[in-house]
Amino acid sequence: MTIHRRWNFEGKVAFVTGAANGIGQATALAFAQEGADVVVVDLSEEGAKATAQMIEAQGVRAVPVRCDVSKPEDVQAALAVTIDKLGRLDFAFNNAGIEQPLAYTADISDEVFERNLRVNLGGVFYCMKYQIPIMLKSGGSIVNTSSGAGIVGIRGQAAYCAAKHGVIGLTKSAALEYGKDGVRINAVCPGIIDTPMIGRFTQGTEENRKRMIAQEPIGRLGRPEEIANTVLWLCSDASGFAIGHAVVVDGGQTAGL
Ligand code: NAD
Repeated sequence: MTIHRRWNFEGKVAFVTGAANGIGQATALAFAQEGADVVVVDLSEEGAKATAQMIEAQGVRAVPVRCDVSKPEDVQAALAVTIDKLGRLDFAFNNAGIEQPLAYTADISDEVFERNLRVNLGGVFYCMKYQIPIMLKSGGSIVNTSSGAGIVGIRGQAAYCAAKHGVIGLTKSAALEYGKDGVRINAVCPGIIDTPMIGRFTQGTEENRKRMIAQEPIGRLGRPEEIANTVLWLCSDASGFAIGHAVVVDGGQTAGL
């Protein structure tokens, strides 16, 4: 059967964090569908292996790597494995993230605040810190996951919002620094996307899910593949003039704010 590819990333290597579930998994699979080999990075070794198996079924190479993105040594090791096993790095989707339990600012524990910042912001920093020197040799494209929470404040989500606003600041600054040298850096800001993270938020109740949907002017939750499509576009030459942008893909959630 002929495979019809939109971007055709054959011969390229994509590094995707948080790839065991949700948006990361959908994007890892989308890279594979376009012919790229994929480094499947996640805190869950089992989850990374499961996604890697799904990818290999598409006839490309997949390397599962257990890595905590909040630990610089883990990130460095994951990138060393990338070069060792696949020989290059063309695309990076720095997407691993955690939610914040609902709490007003004065009630957020130091531990929750610090963990949120270390994973959601520090994780993106460490990934870029060690990806950029590799990409400076042969060019590349980086996409970081921010959120609607990166452009507006949300009651009960101050730590998460601080981290996701920070991701946009990191993205814009790094994009300015390396744009001329062939490394393009952008961010994506998803709205409410139907993933295990949102399942934990709604605690599986239909009532909570309806409340989530009510926040979306489009009248439904987003699908992980809808974010994946944007990430692939941002990695492709089709977006060659886009640098330091935070692309909002949110069903209109923040359009009227
Ligand atoms: P998810 O919880 O479904 O999947 C996240 C994955 O990241 C999991 O596989 C988890 O094991 C992994 N992970 C968590 N901490 C990690 C760490 N320290 N190191 C490596 N991997 C780690 O989440 P999702 O909904 O797919 O979200 C993906 C990203 O998108 C996150 O950054 C999230 O904040 C962001 N986001 C999600 C939504 C949404 O509505 N789902 C909206 C806006 C932004």
